[in-house]
Amino acid sequence: MDEKIRYRTLDKELKKRFGHKVIKLSVNGGFTCPNRDGSISDRGCIFCSEEGNGEFAGSPQKSITEQISSQIVFLSKKWKADRYIVYFGAFTNTYAPVHILRKKFYEALEYPGVVGLAIATRADCIDEDILELLDEINRKYYLWVEIGLQTIHSKSSDFIRRGYDLQTFENSFFLLKRLGIQTVIHLIIGLPAENHQDIQKTIEYVSYIMPWGVKIHLLHVVKGTDLEHYYNTTGFELMERTEYVNTVCDCIEKLDDRIIVHRITGDGKKSNLIGPLWSLEKLKVISEIRNELIRRDSFQGCRIK
Ligand code: SF4
Repeated sequence: MDEKIRYRTLDKELKKRFGHKVIKLSVNGGFTCPNRDGSISDRGCIFCSEEGNGEFAGSPQKSITEQISSQIVFLSKKWKADRYIVYFGAFTNTYAPVHILRKKFYEALEYPGVVGLAIATRADCIDEDILELLDEINRKYYLWVEIGLQTIHSKSSDFIRRGYDLQTFENSFFLLKRLGIQTVIHLIIGLPAENHQDIQKTIEYVSYIMPWGVKIHLLHVVKGTDLEHYYNTTGFELMERTEYVNTVCDCIEKLDDRIIVHRITGDGKKSNLIGPLWSLEKLKVISEIRNELIRRDSFQGCRIK
């Protein structure tokens, strides 16, 4: 493992797999979510923003091809790369008839330079037909599927109104895994009813079931969400920066070192963020986490018994 970055990063993994830098382009497939359209609930997860957590995705009014083109123009100012993974991240990206999903996914895959897809979804939105489509794509292209677990504790999944239980998560997760589809699990640190031990238990569980990757998010309050209302009425304490840095380091130490860490902090839009405001300094937070691991002389998985 790298002396300076003591955990397995996606950037490195993609460079190893493709031989050069690959950048992620976020598109909006124009889907909705059963947790917002009334099928399960019309209120959504407590932290879910108007954009269905796809703040940095393109506009759903544009075609997938148009969104990819404008993302490439935008990101080429920052990165030099000509290989792309198209990320369907806003709302629930398997929540549509299979022929529509097929059309959108293949439209992305046919764009020059696109080497694969990343598809974010819910564990209760993966049926047999969708699995068949994902399996077909996975056999021909590079693919990973992201599922929002956030926590293994029912007190917290009820609080955030995730809308499915751990069993449902496991059913979909293992179906994907059995097909050899790379899975990425989303987790949230800083949920109001969770203590340090609860967070560590979730990480131990993740290491045990062994997804391909993990995304660690900081719970942040976005304007217009029910979490904002909860925050304003209860004044629950948002995580302090030092506590977050230490908690993430503890998590990395307990995370199996084969799991790729896609993300170690949140990424909210400045104009919508209520707090914690320190999370806007994303690069600084990442650097503090990396420095803390160096200070501890620890690395991913070092505390797994
Ligand atoms: S599953 Fe995703 S899109 Fe649906 S309500 Fe929850 S956060 Fe929002």
